[in-house]
Amino acid sequence: SYRKGGYHAVRVGDQFNGGRYVAQRKLGWGEFSTVWLAYDTTTSTYVALKIQKSAAQFAQAALHEIAILSNIADGDPTHSKCVVRLIDHFKHAGPNGQHQCMVLEFLGDSLLRLIKHNRYKGLKLYKVREICKCILIGLDYLHRELGIIHTDLKPENILLCNTIDPAKDPVRAGLTPILERPEGNLNGGATMTLIEKKLKRRARRAVAKISLRRESMGGNEPPKPERNLDGIDVKCKVVDFGNGCWANKQLAEEIQTRQYRAPEVILRSGYSYSVDMWSFACTAFELATGDMLFAPKVGQGFSEDEDHLALMMELLGKMPRKVAISGARSKDFFDRHGDLKRIRRLKFWPLDKILMDRYKFSETDAREFADFLCPIFDFAPEKRPTAQQCLQHPWINRSTSNQNEMKSKSNVEKVNVGMSNPHIKVGK
Ligand code: ATP
Ligand code: MG
Ligand code: MG
Repeated sequence: SYRKGGYHAVRVGDQFNGGRYVAQRKLGWGEFSTVWLAYDTTTSTYVALKIQKSAAQFAQAALHEIAILSNIADGDPTHSKCVVRLIDHFKHAGPNGQHQCMVLEFLGDSLLRLIKHNRYKGLKLYKVREICKCILIGLDYLHRELGIIHTDLKPENILLCNTIDPAKDPVRAGLTPILERPEGNLNGGATMTLIEKKLKRRARRAVAKISLRRESMGGNEPPKPERNLDGIDVKCKVVDFGNGCWANKQLAEEIQTRQYRAPEVILRSGYSYSVDMWSFACTAFELATGDMLFAPKVGQGFSEDEDHLALMMELLGKMPRKVAISGARSKDFFDRHGDLKRIRRLKFWPLDKILMDRYKFSETDAREFADFLCPIFDFAPEKRPTAQQCLQHPWINRSTSNQNEMKSKSNVEKVNVGMSNPHIKVGK
């Protein structure tokens, strides 16, 4: 993809926007872009630099994302709304074309990496609660104050906040600003500005400090940021607004990543803010258990969509007939009684039971967590609680101090009772 119209190739030390940003290392990439850690020489902070592919459709997508992100940043001057902050944007000309670039606040690992890091065992409930609170604050802001639907909420698109400020403490964060290409001084000492010289001196001091620390630790590994999140605030932010839209200007019919997709999207009954709430609840379950709640598959005689609807009904009970027949695609899946056409027998297994039977939650934990999540999984979108209402729920507002949650090693111990596709499907 590093060709005309594609990604822009970046080397450590490359400069952007007239030398303001200096590339440090690659943070990640997606279908549309590569994302680099960059040093902002104007503010002496680290930022995430998202460099879009250059072809027209990618540039247009970037401009849409920038419009949404600008709206988000303008309404959040105190940076307290748990959504990623756009700092700057500009165009960068390279051999593959003109690339739209977004400068975002530098965040940490995604929740997906956190789940993996925890070997898919699920996080302790007090952490799940802290993370849920942040996501809800973000969603409440987007929905109620800005009229924006994210449409692709999932663990991958929620990033942890860095617990160490890399600009204030680059050594502990394992970072030292790189102000020029390591393989050669392209910028020449003579053309260096005062601030660059100052930063370079600071960088040398930081390097000296790192080597000191290495010696005292007796290892070759550069110091790594603290990964153990026990006992600290787990703050996170919602990212990736490439698919975001204003509720009154919807663009796509098919939205959301499969496993986090709301039933009304499958049925094509129209959607609103409450699709994000559905994805939120799927994400909360995954954080607490390490497993995706719905992982539909095609089968003999039925599609992935039909399996998905069947899985939902096994967890939540039968979809009300009125809801089932309300979509443009309803006739593909349901008969006139509101029963699935091609999957006849379903095995009902409610959420609190799953939490107890498969994940060994205590009865109280299971009941309280299910009591929080179940109303969000209402098949009727307009009946789902809003993010603002969820923030009022007792489960979210429980204090952690009087619980055993922090002590228990892990709340999750999986038992093999074969949850994947438990329903008996009868092909017609
Ligand atoms: P997608 O196909 O998911 O839409 P994309 O090209 O729009 O991809 P993003 O998802 O925005 O790109 O970012 C790609 C990756 O870069 C993320 O998964 C994450 O690892 C990293 N990343 C993005 N933004 C930040 C940030 N603000 N701070 C740290 N890392 C980030
Ligand atoms: Mg992404
Ligand atoms: Mg994207």
